[in-house]
Amino acid sequence: MDKNYKSYFLGYFIIFGIIITVLSSLISYKIHMIDIDGSVKKYAQEVSLSRKNYILKPHIDQMDDIVKSIANDQTLKDFLQTGSSIKKHELQNLFLTITNSDKAIMQTRFINASGKEVIRINRDNGQTLPYIVKEADLQNKSGRDYFQTVSTMSTSTLWHSKLDLNIENGKIEVPYRPTIRIAVPLFNEDKFAGMVICNMLSSELFKSIENSPFFDLFIIDKDGNYILHPDNKYSWNKYTGIKRELYEDFPEDASSILAGKAIGSKFFAYPLNSIFNNDDNAILLLRPKATMIDSLKNNNKIVTLIVALLSLLISIPLGIYAARAPIRLQRALHSSNIELKRFSDIIDRYVVSATTKTSGIITNISTAFANISGFSKEELIGEKMNIIRHPDTPKGLFQDLWNTILQGNSWEGEIKNKSKNGEYYWLEQRIFPIKDENGDITSFMSVGSDNTAKKELEAIAMIDKLTHLYNRRKMDECLYIEVEKSKRYNKPLSVIMIDIDYFKKVNDTYGHQTGDTVLQKVAELINDNTRKIDCCARYGGEEFLIMCPETPKDGAIILAEQIRQTVENYSFETVKHLTISLGIASYDDADDMMTLIKKSDEALYMAKHQGRNQVVFYS
Ligand code: GH3
Ligand code: MG
Ligand code: MG
Repeated sequence: MDKNYKSYFLGYFIIFGIIITVLSSLISYKIHMIDIDGSVKKYAQEVSLSRKNYILKPHIDQMDDIVKSIANDQTLKDFLQTGSSIKKHELQNLFLTITNSDKAIMQTRFINASGKEVIRINRDNGQTLPYIVKEADLQNKSGRDYFQTVSTMSTSTLWHSKLDLNIENGKIEVPYRPTIRIAVPLFNEDKFAGMVICNMLSSELFKSIENSPFFDLFIIDKDGNYILHPDNKYSWNKYTGIKRELYEDFPEDASSILAGKAIGSKFFAYPLNSIFNNDDNAILLLRPKATMIDSLKNNNKIVTLIVALLSLLISIPLGIYAARAPIRLQRALHSSNIELKRFSDIIDRYVVSATTKTSGIITNISTAFANISGFSKEELIGEKMNIIRHPDTPKGLFQDLWNTILQGNSWEGEIKNKSKNGEYYWLEQRIFPIKDENGDITSFMSVGSDNTAKKELEAIAMIDKLTHLYNRRKMDECLYIEVEKSKRYNKPLSVIMIDIDYFKKVNDTYGHQTGDTVLQKVAELINDNTRKIDCCARYGGEEFLIMCPETPKDGAIILAEQIRQTVENYSFETVKHLTISLGIASYDDADDMMTLIKKSDEALYMAKHQGRNQVVFYS
């Protein structure tokens, strides 16, 4: 049993530890999962910022600067004013030098106010050097949308074309060469005087945007056409005619993206308008790569698992340690339980206890009760307490007992009980009521100890063994009390001293044994002839003393005479005829116990002296 509890507590604490571990791991797992969303968002922010601010913007700014530097060049201003061919030549060289300075610049032109190309520098591809296009190959561009837009601008601010593919001789050049045109209108004395326009290759730019380990990157225009797609064949699909709808890549989010939402369940959108500043209204779209999310989740799982395992490893020894205290307590409880049981067994065996209903019906008894009463538990439970009531016990005692306990108090006293076999036993008892929470008495409990031996000892101490009358000691006690009472309440009191006549002769003739039998018989005759309140004692060898409370001289004389006659008339076994002499003294104010006895003794002496078999009153 002890061992069982040990494993019970161990199991309990270990399971407790495991539950806590699992719960906390789950919670930390959830928190980290939320963190993953946060991390993805943060990465997206970083990626978009780096793409916008460190790649796109510097690149476009740089191109802007190139166009601005041409527009502000003094040679160009001089040429606009003079139209001189020297200036034109200088200008051509300037355009060539600038075009040569950056491999991304594919074309640099000056177009005059009527839309005619005046200077045109071409570069066939990124690898070759730029060259001046011959006069004969220059074209009129007044019909082109970029000319029409720029020629109507009122200030010399920069204009950006839509992002586009390089078109050579009306055909899209393959491989695709993303291009942006940057132009600035020129004014001569506030009059539109033509424009500088640069075609810039953006392949490198888009290439450097494309890669991110965590995201698929897209750039779309305001209509959802792809400018940049991770699968390159869908890039520029507006121009290539390869169909690719936005919802194919963003099945849940396509409409939100087009509506201008910044963040969706599976995308992050960043408008690029501030950079490109054109009619594309391009948007940079980041779509977290499934592999990225998975690896973040896997990492989280692994971390959670490791933490859970470590916590388990710690929680098991901790559980074992924590279980020690309750195991110790349980052991202490167990041994105190055993102790308690031992005590209650002892109490059951040695304390005579019983519980009864308020009606006196027995509901339980101890083994000691059963033993002393001689009844079994089964015989007593359900019976009334009366079953053990001894006829000797005065009625008044029970009245007093019930009055006390019914009032809610406990009663203490000695009770003489009757056992099953008719014998008696004495209990020193305490009986007390048991109350419920409202204070109402529900039952009584009696606790007692066997008092029989003590009672018998007491009896032996005061009763004469041969005659069963009181002995001299007891008589002296009683007499002392009665003399005091008489003195106090002025009540009469008489004593009668009795002596058997010629008793020696009985012994001598029939033997001592017969003498004893005679003594017993005389005692019986005396006892039978006295009242209950009279007290009879064997006062000496063959002398008896009767104390008669509330009895004056006359009464005592009558009693004494009656006893004398009874003895005289009685025929004793063996001895047959016998007489007694009696001396009487009655209490008067001057007496104490001793003088009273002495007086009766003197009266007895007189009776003997006067011939025996007579009653003499002391005078
Ligand atoms: P008297 O008439 O003067 O009283 O004569 P008596 O023989 O009775 O004289 P006394 O009273 O002096 O004698 C007492 C005798 O009683 C002495 C003793 O042998 C006897 N006796 C005293 N106690 C006992 C007793 O317990 N048993 C018996 N069998 N005899 C006893
Ligand atoms: Mg005598
Ligand atoms: Mg005598």
